[in-house]
Amino acid sequence: MNPSGSTLQVGGRERLWSQALAADSGIQVGSCCQCLRCTNSCPVGPFMDLKPHQVVRLVQLGEKEQVLQSSAIWICLSFEMCSTYCPNEIDVAALMGRLKNAVVSTRKKPAERDIALFHRVFLEVLHAHGRMNDLQLLRRFKLESLLQGRLPGQEDLAEDLSLAWEPWKRRRLRVLPERSRGAVEIRKVLLQ
Ligand code: SF4
Ligand code: SF4
Repeated sequence: MNPSGSTLQVGGRERLWSQALAADSGIQVGSCCQCLRCTNSCPVGPFMDLKPHQVVRLVQLGEKEQVLQSSAIWICLSFEMCSTYCPNEIDVAALMGRLKNAVVSTRKKPAERDIALFHRVFLEVLHAHGRMNDLQLLRRFKLESLLQGRLPGQEDLAEDLSLAWEPWKRRRLRVLPERSRGAVEIRKVLLQ
């Protein structure tokens, strides 16, 4: 039985996906013993449809579609508590990141549309400049949300403006993006 309760048939194609992911990332999900320490240490685990240990198990079994359609991979905030507490040194946080990128690169419909859009725009801004620019991030995120047909309500706008006011007063919001001297290295890291 898989974590969602259905009988699993581990086919060749599924196993190949799991093996390719392990080879490419170095994350050895095969070592997981389902001790649940990752899930028990995860601060946002209660809000996930699949818990971190279930994500690892499903990847082990090659259940690609179920994992990539889960909201858990978007709810994950990359705190890395799971990776720190895993007795078998499985980097669960990095696995979550890989799965997010797999959804983006295969243009699948993400379970959490807004979080996925924010994730993509965040990486694009970082990729372009090697450092974050909050105004660019906000502008692009809002624009793309609009293009996807999501109109902000008055409350959203008021909340955005009140959040932006404090960093603006402290001159923390830069209008023009600055390029990091380590932009090339950062780009390489992002492509890993
Ligand atoms: S902590 Fe590690 S070994 Fe334990 S369930 Fe999570 S991934 Fe598996
Ligand atoms: S990296 Fe993700 S899964 Fe791991 S503890 Fe943090 S939020 Fe939970």
